[in-house]
Amino acid sequence: MAKKPISKKKTAIRDKSAAETTTKKRVAKKAAAPRVKAASRTASKATPGSATVSSKQAATPTPPAPEKSAKPLLPGIRPGSETAALRPMPRVHEFTASTPGAAVPSPPGPPLEGAPAVPPATKEARQPVPASDTRRGPEPTREERPDSGYQPEPEPHPEPQYEPPPPAVHHHHRPSLFIVHVTPEMAPVAKVGGLADVVFGLSRELAIRGNHVEIILPKYDTLRYDQIFELHEVYRDLWVPWYEGAVHCTVYFGFVHDRKCFFIEPHSPDNFFNRGSIYGFPDDVLRYAFFSRAAMEFLWKAGKHPDIIHCHDWQTALVPVFLYEFYQQLGMTHPRACLTIHNFKHQGVTGAELLRATGLHQPERFFDRVRMGDNQHKGALNLLKAGVVYSNFVTTVSPRYAFETKDGGQGFGLEPTLHTHHMKYGGVVNGIDYDVWNPEVDQHLPVRYGIDTIDAKYDNKRSLRHRLMLADNEKPIVAFIGRLDPQKGLELVRHAIFYSLERGAQFVLLGSSPDQRINNDFWGLKHMLNDSPDCHLEIGFDEDLSHLIYAGADIMLVPSQFEPCGLTQLIALRYGTIPVVRTVGGLADTVFDKDHSDRPLHERNGYRFDDYDAPGLESALGRAIDCYYQYPEHFRELMKNAMRSDYSWNRPGQDYLNIYDFIRNR
Ligand code: ADP
Repeated sequence: MAKKPISKKKTAIRDKSAAETTTKKRVAKKAAAPRVKAASRTASKATPGSATVSSKQAATPTPPAPEKSAKPLLPGIRPGSETAALRPMPRVHEFTASTPGAAVPSPPGPPLEGAPAVPPATKEARQPVPASDTRRGPEPTREERPDSGYQPEPEPHPEPQYEPPPPAVHHHHRPSLFIVHVTPEMAPVAKVGGLADVVFGLSRELAIRGNHVEIILPKYDTLRYDQIFELHEVYRDLWVPWYEGAVHCTVYFGFVHDRKCFFIEPHSPDNFFNRGSIYGFPDDVLRYAFFSRAAMEFLWKAGKHPDIIHCHDWQTALVPVFLYEFYQQLGMTHPRACLTIHNFKHQGVTGAELLRATGLHQPERFFDRVRMGDNQHKGALNLLKAGVVYSNFVTTVSPRYAFETKDGGQGFGLEPTLHTHHMKYGGVVNGIDYDVWNPEVDQHLPVRYGIDTIDAKYDNKRSLRHRLMLADNEKPIVAFIGRLDPQKGLELVRHAIFYSLERGAQFVLLGSSPDQRINNDFWGLKHMLNDSPDCHLEIGFDEDLSHLIYAGADIMLVPSQFEPCGLTQLIALRYGTIPVVRTVGGLADTVFDKDHSDRPLHERNGYRFDDYDAPGLESALGRAIDCYYQYPEHFRELMKNAMRSDYSWNRPGQDYLNIYDFIRNR
């Protein structure tokens, strides 16, 4: 145990810069100018408006048709038939045999006032228009009626179903799709969080499967222009309706690592995207409402008719609203809309100003809780909810998180909406880019290694210790990499540091927060542990160091309060670093406990704990450290299992294509 007497540490840290330069010279250089990862996806405060819900507007709910087969189906497809084999259904959580009424998904998006309706493929999907409501908005159901008192019944099996991978299918028959992603972020040019990586990884996976993929982004002043190739103007005068007038925009095109990207630049005194950072402004809701409208206007004016428009998070959740409220009436009847929700915490809750800005001029219609009216704040609009209501399909980033958001109290108020639309909701686990995160080819590593050369991992361990000035001993290294956000379980991270040291392990942390108070807390901790030869806390954002930690550590801790998908455990697995995770969200879908799992032994790849408290954490981390010391050959097997698991984009790419096929064919 390397904990030193506090009094000694206090003396040592009195002069912060002196301490840094003397004892940790090498890393102090890096810490001096940390690249801090901004992470504030903000949502504007709700402002009161004129929300009332008229029960007259509620149409008669139509129960889903009974399903004869025990197997989940797409409309018109029988399991085992040739068609079913060729067109596998979306492998997403909601479409399991246990899901009540899973046979007939709800109609695609909200039908439109006077607009050519999306032709439904099934009789059940074509609902009669109630005489009292010729506008035919999104069909409200029992759950949505304010006076119904209806409580959705609990799912019969709360645990997500783990299905075996579907049989191999041949996709040469699949027609190429035209897919457009409308997104506020894409790595590496505009990255705040995991969303950026998802768009980057998924778009390439879709393209290498023969589809035409384009990406629409805001032209931020902070774009990494060094990563954009052949950037040039392609559409000089795009006029985007805004309030009573229109904003003049220019659209640029460029390649970002072979991805075809359009960047929209508004010329407006609002200066929407020249703010020095991506998020964090009081008018964020209006900025992204404008971007969403501009993206749709660009598609329309440029004569693009994609098969699929895929939007992401609350920032672009208005895209399907605009598609069905405006552009379908103008003749854009072909595209279907898919929304991926990367985190339910941020929803874009706002007031009536949004309607004035975007031309959605019927407050009573849009404040209605069946459309955009926030479920919790009367008189507020909720953009993410609107995206759920209007999209043809909604995904989140793991099946478990899909379940938790709908039935596990993690939906931040959207639970009733997810229940209403559960037929078009499911989870797809993110992939990671194995060109970037692969110890066999990783250029950041001093020594590369693979499953057959696993011993070389220990050369990286030595390099990590050397770089962070840790003692070279027989101890395992426990690591944490991530945003220092309460979501990540910071109390448990703190506890794990002391627990690891007590149990004879070393601890390495790499993280930062946009919240200075949190950073200061960790700086305090860092100073407290400054003299420990077994602990290093690096407060900052350092991609290069993160690679060395993934390779050099033995155990990766992810004790999140909630975790939609989580990338750190996926990367750790690839590097043979054993994840110790809390059983939530994507962590529960990707890490299987060595000692307690219904998975076969060769699929077990880490340790899990359920309870968000110190004993919970210790129950898993303690077992990992024990195994490292007492059963090294078991630990090594676990490392190999971890390295064998496939969390590339291969499978999620196929899952998304199945979803696209599904909504296109309806
Ligand atoms: P989230 O999207 O909630 O931030 P994820 O686990 O999905 O969390 O993704 C985190 C990604 O950011 C991982 O690739 C991780 O390596 C990286 N990362 C987080 N913090 C840092 C940091 N301080 N330095 C380097 N990389 C970081």
